Amino acid sequence: MSEILQVTVLGATGSIGLSTLDVVSRHPECYQIFALTAFSRIAELRELCRLHRPRYAVVADSCQARDLQGRLSDDGVHTRVLVGEGGLSEVAAHPETDVVMAAIVGAAGLRPTLSAVQANKRVLLANKEALVMSGGLFMQALRDSTAVLLPIDSEHNAIFQCLPGDYSAGLANVGVRRILLTASGGPFRELPLEQLAAVTAEQACAHPNWSMGRKISVDSASMMNKGLELIEACWLFDARPDQVEVVIHPQSVIHSMVDYVDGSVLAQLGNPDMRTPIAHALAWPERIDSGVSALDLLQIGRLDFQAPDQQRFPCLRIARQAAQDGGTAPAMLNAANEVAVDAFLNGRIRFIEIASIIEDVLDLEASVPARCLADVLAADAQARMLASRWLHRRDR
Ligand code: NAD
Ligand code: MG
Repeated sequence: MSEILQVTVLGATGSIGLSTLDVVSRHPECYQIFALTAFSRIAELRELCRLHRPRYAVVADSCQARDLQGRLSDDGVHTRVLVGEGGLSEVAAHPETDVVMAAIVGAAGLRPTLSAVQANKRVLLANKEALVMSGGLFMQALRDSTAVLLPIDSEHNAIFQCLPGDYSAGLANVGVRRILLTASGGPFRELPLEQLAAVTAEQACAHPNWSMGRKISVDSASMMNKGLELIEACWLFDARPDQVEVVIHPQSVIHSMVDYVDGSVLAQLGNPDMRTPIAHALAWPERIDSGVSALDLLQIGRLDFQAPDQQRFPCLRIARQAAQDGGTAPAMLNAANEVAVDAFLNGRIRFIEIASIIEDVLDLEASVPARCLADVLAADAQARMLASRWLHRRDR
């Protein structure tokens, strides 16, 4: 690599954001940090600005911005602090940024990620919710641009690595029979079913293999994460939902597989550390050191596989149905899930009620075609309203 690439990290204080900064720091001759953004934990953002000296930082409101700007001046750091959604889109589409890591959690990541695509950036997509909400529009924006989209979600990054270089003519034309999406099964894979009602947020966030943000940790425990990933895979690889099969693989060593018509199955393996897909996407089509240790198969010893338990993980069935229904159904699924997970993390509902809220919201509101972003945002707002109403009824 000759020129130094300017990297913007949306969601810099999160789990993916920090892993990205770790990989970038290992290659100062290739990458420089251009902008860092955060919604909370502003003291940590200040520390990251002192360390990486970005041109811009973005925070949620003007009060935070004034405070951070003052503290950075005291530190002798010349970072300019911007505010809110406008600030996020400005740094994501800035002419001087080359690479955008989209690592904001939830629907809030949609607009800035779309801005990066429309501004023809190399977009490293960790935020799966954006694609789940607006996959058709997002992929159309990608086709209308010269942006390069590289999946960071470990499963999608694995599938990308197992597919041929050009699969734009469709999976059938490159001999793909199925995509095998692997899932660890989360912390409750073997918990007696009757104990599922009483699990706490702390238990749900204690993932056996991965260290992640709280929202995605709960999604992994309910397997909604795999449901969202199924929808994400359909958009990224132009697959039908029935071409994507979910396989439980408790060791999280195989990150996903592609099954070809000749009987070959290609898999990507590695230690469960997000720095591997991040380094892959940063350097693609080259390879760089990620800091992840070599996989020790002899120590791992065995790799196991199971079918997902439908009764234990209703979210997987609900998400597959939303994928099949299409239109605004995935946006409503995602929005209802965000409200439900937040309510669970705040102790308002039990873990098993997450699926009930989502299913009730999807039953109440029929899916309509998602023709433009306004359709998607209206469905998102409607689902959030219905989910909140569900919570109010329950609180009474
Ligand atoms: P996290 O909660 O650790 O970090 C989220 C980041 O987004 C933080 O920097 C936070 O300040 C910012 N943020 C939160 N709400 C925001 C808002 N309303 N506006 C602007 N910024 C906001 O989350 P994470 O685990 O790093 O996950 C980030 C995304 O990557 C999620 O979409 C997740 O599904 C996806 N992902 C994560 C992992 C993982 O291993 N952590 C793996 C695959 C995919
Ligand atoms: Mg994943």
